[in-house]
Amino acid sequence: MISAPARYLLRFDDLCPTFSVECWLRFQSLIEEFRLQPILAVVPDNRDPELQVSPPDPSFWERMRALEAAGATIGLHGYRHLCVSRGRSLLGLALTSEFAGVAAETQRSWIGDGLRILRGHGLNPGIFVAPRHGFDASTLAALRAEGISLLSDGFARAPFLRAGVAWIPQQLWGPVEKDSGLWTICVHANTAHNAEAAQLRQFLAAHAAQFTSVDRVLFRFQPATLTLAERLQAEAALWRLKLSRTAGRVRRAARLPRSNSS
Ligand SMILES: [Zn+2]
Repeated sequence: MISAPARYLLRFDDLCPTFSVECWLRFQSLIEEFRLQPILAVVPDNRDPELQVSPPDPSFWERMRALEAAGATIGLHGYRHLCVSRGRSLLGLALTSEFAGVAAETQRSWIGDGLRILRGHGLNPGIFVAPRHGFDASTLAALRAEGISLLSDGFARAPFLRAGVAWIPQQLWGPVEKDSGLWTICVHANTAHNAEAAQLRQFLAAHAAQFTSVDRVLFRFQPATLTLAERLQAEAALWRLKLSRTAGRVRRAARLPRSNSS
């Protein structure tokens, strides 16, 4: 068990040249002000229209290189971010995903191509961040085969080993004070509102010293296989999240007219 105080890791998802630069700059200034070393989850070859928010930012790759040089960890955020597979994911948080259920050899080539694209831009991807938490045993095998042994996902309170890959859990989508453990806070920079950036800033002002980096996490918490009690606790946390999301969907569907609810 990890002693107090809690540690926090920030993860920014959906980064690609057509992201919202305007939204991103709010978070980049927080990274610089608080000297943060987050996970930057970059889509290598984005084809998802939802992530085509602005004309391509000519400075995007240089921004990512500079942040990596300052200690950020580059994440491979899928390949094209097209989440059209309905395969069963190990976590099962979304109905569709990019990877889960896709043929093993296709997953391997997507991961290999994604890594080559990011490396071609001078980045050194070291961790996998699955779009919509969607991945299966073939994804983990492909990551191992391509030399990536780190994943950002799961609901434990400390990094752990599973299927030959070290998982750094990601359990939060906004800042929440915790007593102990390691908590990754995921921020979708394209869609986060000013209020969310302000809330994060406030949290950082109070807890900046508790924010850590992937390198320090691996040094401090040597990932090990979860004990049965830890596994059950992580499963319970996952189910609580699934239930609260389902309840949220039901509430929204009850409020919305039928034509808007699909
Ligand atoms: Zn994403």
